[in-house]
Amino acid sequence: MFDRKSYTLYKFHKQLNQSFQDKRELLECALPALRNLFKLDRAYFFNWQQEEARLSLRMMCTKDYCMDKQEDISVVNEPPFLKQLLQEGVTETTDLSYPAVYALLKWQRPSMELRGGEVHTFMQERLGMLRLERFRKSRVFTPQELDLIKALAQEISHNLRNTEIDQAKNQRLNVSTALNDLSTIFASSLRLNDGLELILKGVQKYFRFDRVRLYLTDPYGRRIKSILGVDVSGEVVHENVSRLGERESALLKEVFESSVTYRSSRSVFYIPLKVQRNKVGFLAFDNLLSRRAIGYLDFISLQQFASQMALSIDNARLFERVQELSNYDELTKLPVRRYFNEKFSEEIYRCKRFDLTLSLMIMDIDFFKQINDTYGHQIGDWALQEVSKVVRSCLRQTDVPCRFGGDEMVIMLPRANGEEAKVIAQRLQQRITAIVLPTRFTEGKEVHLSISQGISSFPQDGSTAEELLEKADKALYVVKQNGRGHYAVYRDVAGQTELFDIK
Ligand code: GH3
Ligand code: MG
Repeated sequence: MFDRKSYTLYKFHKQLNQSFQDKRELLECALPALRNLFKLDRAYFFNWQQEEARLSLRMMCTKDYCMDKQEDISVVNEPPFLKQLLQEGVTETTDLSYPAVYALLKWQRPSMELRGGEVHTFMQERLGMLRLERFRKSRVFTPQELDLIKALAQEISHNLRNTEIDQAKNQRLNVSTALNDLSTIFASSLRLNDGLELILKGVQKYFRFDRVRLYLTDPYGRRIKSILGVDVSGEVVHENVSRLGERESALLKEVFESSVTYRSSRSVFYIPLKVQRNKVGFLAFDNLLSRRAIGYLDFISLQQFASQMALSIDNARLFERVQELSNYDELTKLPVRRYFNEKFSEEIYRCKRFDLTLSLMIMDIDFFKQINDTYGHQIGDWALQEVSKVVRSCLRQTDVPCRFGGDEMVIMLPRANGEEAKVIAQRLQQRITAIVLPTRFTEGKEVHLSISQGISSFPQDGSTAEELLEKADKALYVVKQNGRGHYAVYRDVAGQTELFDIK
């Protein structure tokens, strides 16, 4: 015997048997098919929003068109149709004055759950609801039709679920590609800050959060040290950290107690960033403005990303620390030549550009070799350390000293002309001659140090770093040739003419 129900189901199945890009595309196919089949005037699709306990109308289909629509039915107070709908899957009980049917779209999700002492292996997940209306001719739905609608609702549910899974898979693929891109960008940025800005913009863009903030800790993971934020404008802002206090430290502690934290008082989600047990910081994000829900998949992807991000930040910090260390000489704690040369070239460029003055001083300890030879290398090291302490304490913030090599130090004095440099030279000379090496290492003898200094100035003595260094070195040479323990400005001794005595 010809079974009408099976045949209709078969045809419907064939119609929906394609891959849909999203739920919308699927509904645009399913709703008109239902409308034709049951001679409906309108077919509606409602989304079941579990958290908000409401059915939210998403699409309506009439004879001529399908359109997006918004209308919510709250299920908090158990509307009259709800009980039967959940029990039977279909119900004709509606609050409409013409024949209409509600049909439940649900999915049996495999799960292991213990309820009332029984193991349930399936959990019913409500996906949505259909509302099918016949208002023109007011033709009621027959029991056979209701039966068929129920079966078709199942078919649609199945397809909805598959489409959701496909969509999620695609989204996940997109996100993981995006995250991969971000990690590559991050890994290749030379400076930590540039990398962080790129990554924040990326997270905001790919996940489309209204706001993302990155809280970073101090190297020990104890306090929040800085905050970077980005919103839909894509602009990265460095937030003021001086105001941070107890509240952020408490938040830091709380965030690290779980993998994802939600603070309803601020409607913000937090994900910790850590490398093993070290706290690097945390990410905070919200959709407060748009009120869009943040998907479960976003969390999973972000969590994966957070561990990569934490590792990159940790590496970048380490790299910066190593770089910082390599810019300084271990013994004297003064910048090394390479670092100095960089700063010196930058400063000369600035002087040329803005018509500024600059002086350069080369300083060399007198008869240093003798100290080494007489009292040993360690006393020599000690002397170098004492001299560099004096150098550091005598200079302004903008001056750049450097251990140029051996017992030679070079100091860049921005904005100082030759006369001002002489004042500094004199001060250094006095303070260094006041150093006394500890007598217990020097066989009871009081050993004093003295230095010789040569000075050149921009623009009078040269316009390049090399020229200025050469002139200062020549001036130093003149001092050494004339008995040491003095300083000289190049243009004053250019013809081996004048020397200035230290009183
Ligand atoms: P001058 O007055 O002409 O400068 O005589 P000097 O003996 O100081 O001669 P010079 O500047 O050429 O000698 C520098 C000495 O500094 C040679 C080297 O053994 C010593 N020296 C270089 N680096 C270090 C160091 O890191 N520690 C110690 N203890 N000595 C060093
Ligand atoms: Mg020397």
